[in-house]
Amino acid sequence: MPVHDYKRIQKALRKKYRPESLAPTYGYAPALSEGAVVPPIFLSSTFVFKSAEDAKRSFELAYHLRERKPREQASLIYSRLNNPNLEILEDRLTLFEKGTESAAVFAAGMSAIATSVLSLCASGDTVLFSVPVYGGTDYLFRHIFPRIGIKTVPFPAGSAAGKVREELFRQKSKGENPAMIFLETPANPTCALTDIKEIAEIARETSRHAKRNIILAVDNTFLGPMWQNPAEQGADLILYSATKFIGGHSDVVAGAAMGNQEVIDDNIKVYRTMLGTILSPFDGYLLLRSLETLKMRMTAQAKNARYVAEWLAKHPKVEKVYYPGLLKPGDPQYRIFQKQCKNAGSMISFDIKDGRREAFQFLNALKLAHLAVSLGGMQTLAEHPSTMTHSDLEQREKSELGITEKMIRLSIGVEYYADILDDLNQAMNKVTARRATS
Ligand SMILES: *Cc1c(COP(=O)(O)O)cnc(C)c1O
Repeated sequence: MPVHDYKRIQKALRKKYRPESLAPTYGYAPALSEGAVVPPIFLSSTFVFKSAEDAKRSFELAYHLRERKPREQASLIYSRLNNPNLEILEDRLTLFEKGTESAAVFAAGMSAIATSVLSLCASGDTVLFSVPVYGGTDYLFRHIFPRIGIKTVPFPAGSAAGKVREELFRQKSKGENPAMIFLETPANPTCALTDIKEIAEIARETSRHAKRNIILAVDNTFLGPMWQNPAEQGADLILYSATKFIGGHSDVVAGAAMGNQEVIDDNIKVYRTMLGTILSPFDGYLLLRSLETLKMRMTAQAKNARYVAEWLAKHPKVEKVYYPGLLKPGDPQYRIFQKQCKNAGSMISFDIKDGRREAFQFLNALKLAHLAVSLGGMQTLAEHPSTMTHSDLEQREKSELGITEKMIRLSIGVEYYADILDDLNQAMNKVTARRATS
C-alpha cells in the first residue's frame, strides 16, 4: 500500500477504533521498511536529504524560521531532533492520552518535567506545585529551579480549589508572576486526589486577569493513560515517567510530555532539541512493544490491586489503607475519584500497626514481591516511603502529609492474585507482637 494511502487510512481508523486496537500498527507504514510488520530500530544518528532544497526546507521548519504550510512535513534531520521510532511512539501515545494532539518523549520522566518547565517558565516566574510529589520532582522544584530564578510554592495535594485560588492571588498581590500549576494526582505515596477540572478553571480565570496563560501541568504517571486523562479535564500539559506503567517491564527509563501542538511542538520540543534530553531509539522501540500490551497489563494489575486493597482493609495488623477504590460516598475525595478516574489503578499504600519495626519485619519477609522502589512493572514491588522514596522530606512535612514510619507502598503486578495475597499473608504472619513494657 502506498505511503500516502496508508496515512489517510490510519487517520480514518483513529476516529473509529480504540487505542488498544491501533497500538500495534498505528503511525507506521510497512512499505517504508521492506514490509516489516514491526518497525525496525533506526539507530542512525543522521538522515540523508533528498536534495539541498529539501534540507533547507526541513531546517526552516525545525528552527521555526517560517510557518508550516498545511500538511507540510519536514524530513528527518538528526536523532537529537527526532527519529522514526520516536515519531511512531509519539503518535501512538496520543492515541491513549485523550484530548492531546502531540507528544514528546524523553530520556527520563525527570527530563520530561525539567525540559517542560524550562521551556514554559522563565526567571521571575512562579510555579505552584502540589505536595507530596515524586522525590525527584520535589528536589527539582525546591532546590534547582529557585537557583535560576523560578520561584516554587508548594500546596497540599487534595487542597480545595479555593485554596489554590487564594494562593494564586496572594502571589499576584506580592507582584509575582504565576506561570504554572503543577499537580501530581493521585499523589505519591498517599494517593490523595486533587480536582483537575476545578484547578483548570481557576488557572483559566487567573490567566484572564493576569493576561498571560497559566499552564496546568499534571504528572499522570500513577493512573495514566488508561485510567485518567487530564486533558479531558482541562489540563494543558500531561507529564509521565514512562519508566512506570507505560514501559511496564522495569527495564527502561523514559519520560513523555503531551498536550496541544503549541505547547509540545513550538515550546517543549525546541528545548528538548537544545538540551539533548530526547529518548534513545532503542528505548523508543522498547516502549513501542510496551504500548501493545498497555491495556492488558494495566487491567490485570488493577484487578489484582482491588483484591489486595480489600484484603488489607480487613487485616487486623493494618491500620489504614490508601487506595482510591476504597473511598466512600460522602468523602470529598470520592467525588473527585468519580469525576476524573476511570479505575483505581494498582498503587496501594497502607499503615501497618504500629511502626517502623513492624513495617521492616513485613518488608523483610516478602518472598514473591520484591523490596524495591519504582512502580508499574509486571512484578509486585513494596517499599517504605519514609526511609526510601520520601526520606528527603523534612520530618515536619512528612508528618503533615501522613508519610509516617508505619506506611508501606505497594505497586501491584500481574502475578496470579491469590499468589500475591499468599505472599503478603505469610509476610504479615512474620510480624511479631511487641512485648508489653512492664
Ligand atoms: C518515577 C517518577 C518520576 C520520575 O521519572 P523517571 O523516569 O524516574 O525520571 C516522576 N513522577 C512520578 C510520579 C514518578 O513515579
